[in-house]
Amino acid sequence: MHSDIVIIGAGIGGLTTALALQRQGFRPRVFEKSPEVGDIGAGIMLTPNSVKCLKYIGLESALVDHAIEPLESVYREYDTAEIILSAPLKDTMEATYGAKYFHIHRADLLSILSSAVLHNDANAIQLGYNHTYSIDKVSYISSFFENMNPVRSDIVIGCDGIHSVVRKNLFGDEEARYTGQVAWRGMVPSKTLPKSINSQGSVSWLGRNKHIIHYGVRNEDYINYVAIVAEDQWTEDGWVKLAEVSELLDQFKDWHSDVRQLLSNTPKAACYKWGLFDRKPLINWTNGRTTLLGDAAHPMLPFMAQGSAMAIEDAIVLARSLSNYTNVEKAFLSYQNVRIARANRLVEKSRGATKVYQNPTGDKEQQRAEAIREVYGYDATTVII
Ligand SMILES: Cc1cc2nc3c(=O)[nH]c(=O)nc-3n(C[C@H](O)[C@H](O)[C@H](O)COP(=O)(O)OP(=O)(O)OC[C@H]3O[C@@H](n4cnc5c(N)ncnc54)[C@H](O)[C@@H]3O)c2cc1C
Repeated sequence: MHSDIVIIGAGIGGLTTALALQRQGFRPRVFEKSPEVGDIGAGIMLTPNSVKCLKYIGLESALVDHAIEPLESVYREYDTAEIILSAPLKDTMEATYGAKYFHIHRADLLSILSSAVLHNDANAIQLGYNHTYSIDKVSYISSFFENMNPVRSDIVIGCDGIHSVVRKNLFGDEEARYTGQVAWRGMVPSKTLPKSINSQGSVSWLGRNKHIIHYGVRNEDYINYVAIVAEDQWTEDGWVKLAEVSELLDQFKDWHSDVRQLLSNTPKAACYKWGLFDRKPLINWTNGRTTLLGDAAHPMLPFMAQGSAMAIEDAIVLARSLSNYTNVEKAFLSYQNVRIARANRLVEKSRGATKVYQNPTGDKEQQRAEAIREVYGYDATTVII
């Protein structure tokens, strides 16, 4: 039996899992190390495969209220702004893949998820619980936290992100792979920008070894950007760092004036620099009463906007598996069998997608179409488990 479920981490993966489990009649408890649920200011693209899942757990109207449905996706030359490719998103995505495509502020998505979870169970999320390790007994599992009493449950789901303690305790401390890419992220008030930048879609500017994607969030009041630069080494302490906009502008010296204006209007203390890491795909996510989900199981590069999407799909399949099978082993096996090949394929595809953005040769339309067809069409709510 597995009626008592502990989730470690209240990120997008952990909260979606909690809500999906509540919808199946479980009462999961989420333990988060931070004092609040939240995120540094950044946007996120929700592709139709993840929106299908969020609809399934009752969040469609909240998304319509808080997210933006972009008109189109446009690719431009980095210096001339010439359009290389333009593809419609609004309506087309729903007609082709069965769900809309959204842009949303990450903090808004986390707030939608946590409100829904707390609406179902006011005690479901416990903050300030820094998980350290678990001891798997034959008939239960005990989870330990810094300065807190241990918590006993039937199963533990590790949703604690790329630096997962749960994963380390299950499978050892293998090095994350630096992918040779650094991401700069910022959020700029739209009113400070010229109209040409405030497009109602996502715009990707492509150069050699660099690219930038920007799109509106929060009613188009802000433009979120992610600027990716290929760099041989990541020499900073830690994985993310508050960064100087002047350093970023140096990287984009010869780029179009719209790009430079966007970057230079980043408010103080609102530009972050991330070393992009992933991990070698695992062939097993489960040990006894514990399994992994989201970035803890399969961190990936952001180039296909599929990190959260995979966490959200995992959550739906895991909740369905736990509902279908009362035996923990069978439920975890079913979850893993359905998810592991797809998630690991996306880890590799996301690495490969670097060349779509940062190599000026090749048919962009064909590359983009090939990249998204299989990904957006997937439906975690109906896949056979
Ligand atoms: C530049 C960039 C852009 C991206 N853009 C997109 C996009 O457009 N679309 C998309 O789908 N994905 C995108 N991603 C990927 C996405 O951000 C991640 O895949 C997603 O956040 C993973 O969710 P998660 O819940 O698995 O992990 P996380 O979001 O990392 O959440 C983990 C949670 O666990 C908590 N935690 C960690 N350790 C402990 C502990 N010991 N005890 C208790 N709690 C703990 C953390 O505080 C956190 O709240 C992007 C990533 C980057 C870097």
